Amino acid sequence: MKSQDIASTWYDYFAAKGHERVPSASLVSPEPSLLFTIAGMVPFIPYFMGLETPPYRRAASVQKCIRTADIEEVGKTARHGTFFQMCGNFSFGDYFKETAIPMAWELLTSPVEGDPETGLRGFGLDPERLWVTVYEDDDEALAIWRDTVGVPQERIQRFDAEDNYWNTGQPGPGGPCSEIYYDRGPAYGIEGGPAADDTRYVEIWNLVFMQDLLSAVHSKTEFEVSGPLQNKNIDTGLGLERLAMILQGVENMYETDQVRPVLDRAAELAGVTYTSTEDPQDPHHTTDVRLRMIADHVRSALMLITDGVRPSNEAGGFILRRLIRRVILGMRLLGVEKPVFGDLLSVSRDAMKGVYPEVAERFETIHQVAVKEEQAFLRTISAGTERLESAVSDAKKSGRPLSGDDAFALHDTYGFPIDLTLEMAEEAGVSVDQETFRALMSEQRERARADAKGKKSGHANTEVYQKLLADRPTHFTGYTEHTTESRI
Ligand code: ATP
Ligand code: MG
Ligand code: MG
Ligand code: MG
Repeated sequence: MKSQDIASTWYDYFAAKGHERVPSASLVSPEPSLLFTIAGMVPFIPYFMGLETPPYRRAASVQKCIRTADIEEVGKTARHGTFFQMCGNFSFGDYFKETAIPMAWELLTSPVEGDPETGLRGFGLDPERLWVTVYEDDDEALAIWRDTVGVPQERIQRFDAEDNYWNTGQPGPGGPCSEIYYDRGPAYGIEGGPAADDTRYVEIWNLVFMQDLLSAVHSKTEFEVSGPLQNKNIDTGLGLERLAMILQGVENMYETDQVRPVLDRAAELAGVTYTSTEDPQDPHHTTDVRLRMIADHVRSALMLITDGVRPSNEAGGFILRRLIRRVILGMRLLGVEKPVFGDLLSVSRDAMKGVYPEVAERFETIHQVAVKEEQAFLRTISAGTERLESAVSDAKKSGRPLSGDDAFALHDTYGFPIDLTLEMAEEAGVSVDQETFRALMSEQRERARADAKGKKSGHANTEVYQKLLADRPTHFTGYTEHTTESRI
């Protein structure tokens, strides 16, 4: 099943169940406390927090999301993209668990061509491969899964608050979650359900039951429930790419129909083969991870620029810049030094335009923005390369490793990434004093941290969210979005 068909099956199913079809909001978060839209529920926060009255009581959406917090996982796990689409169904004080759970099951397991009785199309998953988790004391959800749906007790696991309790980080609504996992089979890991192995058992769908009123929240796992919420809400999120990976019978989300063409093009430009390996011991792993990262980041950049983000040194613009630079760097490490972004971007456009026609409509601008950024970064790299070459030749002459100070200066002055320094030095047969480099980096981070104290800039910090929200009755930090501190 194509990604586009997953989205339409989703919308059709929930429309048949009385849900309003809500189109995706922008990747630039409509909620001021967040930089990007990081979950399907983000556009509905005012309804969940009781700040506004929803115009409908049931809604369904397929929401574009960016999670830069997952950037280091991209290409290494099968399931983490910086861009992905979250299919969600929502109840605002309408149905609760007793309805949300059986609906999720029905949609996942009904035949693709339609249920003979109801006519409803589903995703046709084998029920035997589905596992569920519930919050440790949520006996109610467990009973619905076991008695109403008929999931065998041994495929239901109880998880603690770390994984299966949602709260906003502030007094207000909270509640247990229940998640659905798909068993990819023994080739992918050990038996024993998601508690034993989250690679073999892939999380696909999170159901959040907002039912508690919290009087205090000390941490993700420590909070005080003062009583039931007056209006109980449902918020769910199913990862479209993760389901596509299963339905398309591929190894990971980067091989699904909306991403794979970019991966293939990158491999072609670099003259390398992609081998699908997930094994870090496999000699081809580094190349595969790079290709998957490149494919993911090109798409994220395409979607961010389409939604109006522009490269800069601040906030969302910096994240976009970082995504673009990582692609260029990744291609360089695969041996491609010429400009490639425009080429990869047009492949990504073609893979995405069926669902998001605006990527084609605005392509001229998108292309211009990305290519200009690429040119600037290539200039930086070439200035850095000259400096690096002279440092390498000095090191060679003296028979010493390239100094940590040189590596740091390259990074700091030219934005020359350490990976590239290491790779190029290695090619010349010179080692790098990485220990000193790392020490200098962490000193710099300490200084930056000290500088940032008291300043309002930055978005990684919940204090900042709280300041932004100071004029609003509820502080929302339920999903945290953070960026790493490294410059690339
Ligand atoms: P994981 O534990 O695998 O990182 P999560 O628990 O962080 O996932 P949720 O916050 O529960 O994810 O989001 C709801 C759903 O969205 C997940 O069940 C998954 O299907 C999907 N999802 C979350 N993060 C990503 C991502 N980075 N890339 C693709 N899909 C994602
Ligand atoms: Mg996660
Ligand atoms: Mg999880
Ligand atoms: Mg989850």
